[in-house]
Amino acid sequence: MPKPVALKLAVCSLLVLSQAVSASATETTTKHVVLITIDGLRWQEVFAGADERLLSRETGGVRDVDKIRNEFWAESPLERRTRLMPFLWEVIAKKGQLFGDVDAASVVRVTNGRYFSYPGYNEILCGFGDETIDSNAKRPNKNITVLEWLNQNVRYRSRVAAFGSWDVFPYILNQERSGIYVNSGWQDLEVFDDERDRKQWNQLANSLPRVWTGVRYDAFTARGATEYLRVKRPRVLYVALGETDDWAHDGRYDLYLDAALRSDQYIQELWDTCQRLDEYRNKTTFVITTDHGRGDVRDGWKSHGVSVPGSEYIWIAVLGPDTEAIGQRMNVTVTQSQVAATVAALLGEDFSALDSRIAPPIPGIINGSEK
Ligand SMILES: [Zn+2]
Repeated sequence: MPKPVALKLAVCSLLVLSQAVSASATETTTKHVVLITIDGLRWQEVFAGADERLLSRETGGVRDVDKIRNEFWAESPLERRTRLMPFLWEVIAKKGQLFGDVDAASVVRVTNGRYFSYPGYNEILCGFGDETIDSNAKRPNKNITVLEWLNQNVRYRSRVAAFGSWDVFPYILNQERSGIYVNSGWQDLEVFDDERDRKQWNQLANSLPRVWTGVRYDAFTARGATEYLRVKRPRVLYVALGETDDWAHDGRYDLYLDAALRSDQYIQELWDTCQRLDEYRNKTTFVITTDHGRGDVRDGWKSHGVSVPGSEYIWIAVLGPDTEAIGQRMNVTVTQSQVAATVAALLGEDFSALDSRIAPPIPGIINGSEK
């Protein structure tokens, strides 16, 4: 029996609408994404562990050289990197994928040309480098992050959240416009499974000396993010760790290494938390990266930017049910700007459809997509 024309039209436009929404998106197993950044952590340490040239008081500001050598030094770079980031090398490198070992012709490049934080986070989250972002000033981002874009979608609405150690994240994520839950800087943690824990953690945060006014210790960011995940069950959670960059600027290679190791532990805790929850187990992908590289020789490791060669090289790690266990991806060049569309693609969404400047997802991250 022929359908009435009106109904036919309605069905047609519904079809068109649903196709527009899911244009070029593929079905994935991933239902949750945890995006993690470790500010200014160099690919050199990620892929080769502690740099011996910096394990001294003179070059690396290391206070107790014996202790730090004991903890992080080994002749083999493979052992050194596992000491520094055991979860990355024992789990992610075996079950996921890693990009950015320049020595193995695996290159991840920053495209914004500035190589410092706000431009880097904008590129990671918005999918393109924006040359008009030229400072770390607390200005609301005019660009739309993949987090904001997902939060506009009814499937993700109010289920997107961000925890950052740095107090500029409410601006980078344009909290006011995007409506995303953002907890950052020395702001009190609000969501805890146990109310007594919430009080204790905030009392502790408020009783510690603060090395940096705009950056809280990552322990609080990580704890807050893990509790939020357990209580609120976000579909997309962004965790921005910050200490690595600040210890490096302060010229403390010992504390920079410490912060890298702790970052790895926080990632493991978040991963283990996900694997204990039915809703997340085997349905969650972790994407981990950084906002910029740093220099290399002499004092270069402390800094980054246009005038510091090497700042354009970063790294990316991915672990989850849609990603083939290839480990280190060799002979490949990808960009920081590809992270945003990769996060969306893991959820089966096509972020590049929003704006022609947005870089495509990294090939080969999702099973069956071309390498
Ligand atoms: Zn920095």
